[in-house]
Amino acid sequence: MFIERFHKVGGTERPNIGMSEINSRTRGLRGGLGRAEYLCAMSHSTAQVDVLAFGAHPDDVELSAGGTLAKLAAEGKSCAIVDLTRGELGTRGSAEIRAAEAAAAADILGVSHRENLGLADGFFEVNDESLRKVISAIRRLQPSVVIANALNDRHPDHGRAAALVARAAFLSGLVKIETGSEAAPEMPWRPRAVYHFIQDQDRVPDVVVNIEGHLETKFKAVMAYASQFHDPQSTEPETPISSPEFMDHVRGRATSMGRPAGFKHGEGFEVRRPVGTESLLDLI
Ligand SMILES: [Zn+2]
Repeated sequence: MFIERFHKVGGTERPNIGMSEINSRTRGLRGGLGRAEYLCAMSHSTAQVDVLAFGAHPDDVELSAGGTLAKLAAEGKSCAIVDLTRGELGTRGSAEIRAAEAAAAADILGVSHRENLGLADGFFEVNDESLRKVISAIRRLQPSVVIANALNDRHPDHGRAAALVARAAFLSGLVKIETGSEAAPEMPWRPRAVYHFIQDQDRVPDVVVNIEGHLETKFKAVMAYASQFHDPQSTEPETPISSPEFMDHVRGRATSMGRPAGFKHGEGFEVRRPVGTESLLDLI
């Protein structure tokens, strides 16, 4: 089974990485240096994490849940990101460049583990092979909570990734399912909940996380993907997300998500079951 693990940082403290360092890491790769110079190989991680965020493409998680992860990491919670594909069909950049950018973004957010399952960008399906790969990651990382793509969105990979991860999160708890992975223990594991972040389409959230104080960290992580977003130096084709206006949109989304919940900035999530609480007083 192909699993590309390309990044690991220890602990949950957020390293202080400047944009110049990010740029130097990724610029070198664009210049043709090997990915191995930027990305450290890692052994199989079987450490239990508090939160595991899946994204169809590298940068999905940063754009829609980056503030949530940065806040959790700053509070000492362990977070991991699993990218389903390498984003190899993206108009700008390449899979190698995006891998280096993803590693830099993980450093900025303070996540403790990041890996890539190597599914086919644009063509992965919810099938036996993809389900077992996702189940294997869930069983290995044993998250309390899973975060996944938007339930429906402009890019068809997003809704399919949401369905894939939600189904795998359920199946992962069935004792008779074996994934065939040598890396993952075949111990059943079911996360408490799957929260779907909101992407391009406006959707009504069931839960809003207050990310005030963490928006700039989110933006720093997003801008680590210099190949994808606005870069005045870039000579690559413009895309719907490469204009400066797109960043205005992302910032506006944080404001509009937060406002109804009483927050300066927020990130919204949908969940396909009622949100439980011990007491109404615990809810904001
Ligand atoms: Zn995406």
